Amino acid sequence: MPVYTDASGRIDIKSLTLPELTEQMQGMGSEAFRSRQVYKWLWQKHARSFDEMTNVAKTVRVALAEKFYIAFLTPVGVLQSRDGTVKFLWKTHDDWQIESVLIPDEDRLTLCVSSQVGCAMACTFCLTGDLGLKRHLRPSEIANQPLQIRPVIPKVGLSEEARITNIVMMGMGEPLHNYDNLVPALKTYLDEDALGFSHRKVTVSTVGLVPRMQQLAAELPVNLAVSLNASTEEQRREVMPITRKYSMKTLLDACRDLPIPQAKRITFEYVMMGGFNDSMEDAARLVKLMHGIKSKVNLIPYNENPDRAIKRPPEARVRAFQHYMVSRGIQCSVRTTRGIDISAACGQLGKADAVSVAEFFGAAIVPQAPTSCTTPEPSTQSALRDGADA
Ligand code: SAH
Repeated sequence: MPVYTDASGRIDIKSLTLPELTEQMQGMGSEAFRSRQVYKWLWQKHARSFDEMTNVAKTVRVALAEKFYIAFLTPVGVLQSRDGTVKFLWKTHDDWQIESVLIPDEDRLTLCVSSQVGCAMACTFCLTGDLGLKRHLRPSEIANQPLQIRPVIPKVGLSEEARITNIVMMGMGEPLHNYDNLVPALKTYLDEDALGFSHRKVTVSTVGLVPRMQQLAAELPVNLAVSLNASTEEQRREVMPITRKYSMKTLLDACRDLPIPQAKRITFEYVMMGGFNDSMEDAARLVKLMHGIKSKVNLIPYNENPDRAIKRPPEARVRAFQHYMVSRGIQCSVRTTRGIDISAACGQLGKADAVSVAEFFGAAIVPQAPTSCTTPEPSTQSALRDGADA
């Protein structure tokens, strides 16, 4: 797994999994159990410095501060929607802006997390694709999003007891295109000594990078969502260029064969675009495509925006489509549009103006000035190659 360092050569400790941290600390002559203490300070007690780690011997703390640094995202904006959705804007140490979206629902509080700055997949309907891929996020940057939001949840009008219940990798970027950084971050989400989410509450959404889907299914028990968005090969090729590399047939065959645990199903996201893929013929084809796959379908009525001529289908059409699917035995839901007034809805990330409300976070989690970095950022080259011919 990649190791990231700052200008003085110190290691980004939050990009390490617990076994990696243990190995590093054993190399420094520390007993194995010490690493778990440090890990808990980072992920459960929100430590900003090694000095705060009072159950760790002073000499060890000094040694840790020489070898490692504690990374944070810099909060640069918080936008709250009339419907309660909150968009958080962050700056990375090298000045890229990324976003996370917090979505309160009756019994759930879902955080939509970004995995890359921009995206290389170039789906024609999605605005994030317009940015192109700037760079992959590091594990610490992916895992810091829920960590840094946790303490400010009461400030966005939610109760003191409110906790993030679900994490969806549906923010900016294609998570499986950033596989090597995604997996350590997911381990931090799942580890009981870190953020402690159940695997049932963590979902990775993908355009369908088939080999990576297979790898992930073998490595971690998280939920998988696949953005299908079409009912024929031609249609999908038109809006999702990745289809030229992995045909819809290849993708669906792979889904059929994935080792999905008994209690899980693959979610197929289907963005409904008026007059393009929203007819009853599309619904009938989609039913056939789902044959033999442990699946459920999530219809996402297109979120209109000034940069695309694409129309959201009328509500009645969305419901008719859904009823048809359900009548043929397919579990099918319609995603409620959230955060449209703050450009936080699906496909709108990367578009909002930054509102400077860093004070919102207070000193508690705003880091000291971020250190610059000498390690080349997660390469986009290898992943692009992966996207092109893996
Ligand atoms: N790259 C991953 C993760 C992003 S998830 C993936 O594609 O699955 C973002 C979801 O929003 C995807 O299902 C995408 O198809 C959908 N989407 C993009 N633009 C949209 C828009 N304008 N309206 C509705 N859904 C959109």
